[in-house]
Amino acid sequence: MKNEEFRAYAHEFVDWMAEYLDQIEDLPVKSQVNPGDIRNQLPNQPPEMAESMKDIFNDFKNIILPGVTHWQHPSFHAYFNANNSRPSILAEMLTATLGAQCMIWATSPSATELEEVTMKWLKGMLGLPESWHGSIQNGASDATLIALLTARERVTGFKLNSSRSSNRVFRVYGSEQAHSSLDKAVAIAGIGQQNLVKVAVDDQYAMDPEKLREAIQKDIDRGFQPLMVMAAIGTTGSTAIDPLLPIAHVCEEYEIWLHVDAALAGTSLILDEMRWMVQGIEKAESFVVNPHKWMFTNFDCSAYFVKDKKALLRTFSVSPEYLRTKEDEQVNNYRDWGIPLGRRFRALKLWFVIRSFGVEGLRQKIRLHLQLAQWFKERVLRASIFELCAPVPLNTICFRVSPTNKNKLDLDALNKELLESVNATGKIYITHTMLQRRYVLRMVIGQTEVAQRHVEKAWKLLHSTAEELLSRKND
Ligand code: PLP
Repeated sequence: MKNEEFRAYAHEFVDWMAEYLDQIEDLPVKSQVNPGDIRNQLPNQPPEMAESMKDIFNDFKNIILPGVTHWQHPSFHAYFNANNSRPSILAEMLTATLGAQCMIWATSPSATELEEVTMKWLKGMLGLPESWHGSIQNGASDATLIALLTARERVTGFKLNSSRSSNRVFRVYGSEQAHSSLDKAVAIAGIGQQNLVKVAVDDQYAMDPEKLREAIQKDIDRGFQPLMVMAAIGTTGSTAIDPLLPIAHVCEEYEIWLHVDAALAGTSLILDEMRWMVQGIEKAESFVVNPHKWMFTNFDCSAYFVKDKKALLRTFSVSPEYLRTKEDEQVNNYRDWGIPLGRRFRALKLWFVIRSFGVEGLRQKIRLHLQLAQWFKERVLRASIFELCAPVPLNTICFRVSPTNKNKLDLDALNKELLESVNATGKIYITHTMLQRRYVLRMVIGQTEVAQRHVEKAWKLLHSTAEELLSRKND
């Protein structure tokens, strides 16, 4: 492609992008296609000869787009959001254009130094300990695996990577509500799924620190080696907050690595009134927050903070001759801070976002989401056909249809039907979870452009559809 054509299409694409964002509310939030619908429209073989950008772009609009779920739709209330914002998109365009691979300082000094600066800013914005060290990882799953591997290296005197496998049986702890990335990390690290201890939760779905202590003591008595505890600040199911300080005391007493998973909720620490969630954070060893969830920064951008930088580097450094540079002693080479060698220039979009919103602008957005969540919660509490299924400390409401007169209704099936009906309208998108073996609907309010009217729309749709389903069942 010649530069003139590139320029023309780039302009056309930007016009399309601006229009897409402007008119996104006219699109169905959740893609309405069936399995195979997209694949069946695409040729089996790649083209032998070059095709025109006009044709490729037309196919993008006509074939690909219908199979896209619109995560940037303000009525996207599913999972946890993976937001972008206009400043972040602009930065991603520049990142793509530069195409820099930022594995070491020398391969793009700006990428390394901007990552240092943005991580320092973020640390201050969230009130994390000043002496900690931050880096950008692909996701919270990577961060948790990195924490686990570092903890294991440190506890074995940094021998495991180099010499032999340990004959110790390591034990890892998270609550029954911990994210599945902990299960995955334990599996990948070869610790063995049976050595992941799922600690019981209280009636708020938060880890019970006394149960944690009992589990650890029992393991020690059996000759096991406790390795890491993961506390969740904002579980995926219901945004439960594990009590960090008592958990930290247990970890301190038994000298266990405490990793804090605040993948979503970490962003809300920019609000002073939310800092109670991390009381005791200075006792933890590591912490992860995903700006790609709630800080309006394109996927992927996960910020991992660690207290013991030396332990991290001793775990992940490898130094083949072809990667050595004369600046190695003076700079951070982020290839040594995690699993992949190659790294995208991810700090740029976070820098654009923080500067362009300003910290106060970010605070206003997060406060609005928290207020809207309370508004929705109140509606659930007041409606006789719904019940609230978990506390709402953040931006996620867990609820379900549960009328006073249950009339032998299968509530799990009914709620599933409700979820599928509202999602099929394309007007909103919500997902579910299981709490105390009950099928529960999850409504997340965290999209960049979400406003009161979207939450009202969701409430009206959920309420009227639930009433309709109930009246059909009662007929
Ligand atoms: N931890 C929590 C609490 C999450 O909710 C999620 C994903 O939603 C993760 C970890 C995994 O995040 P990632 O997709 O960045 O690996």
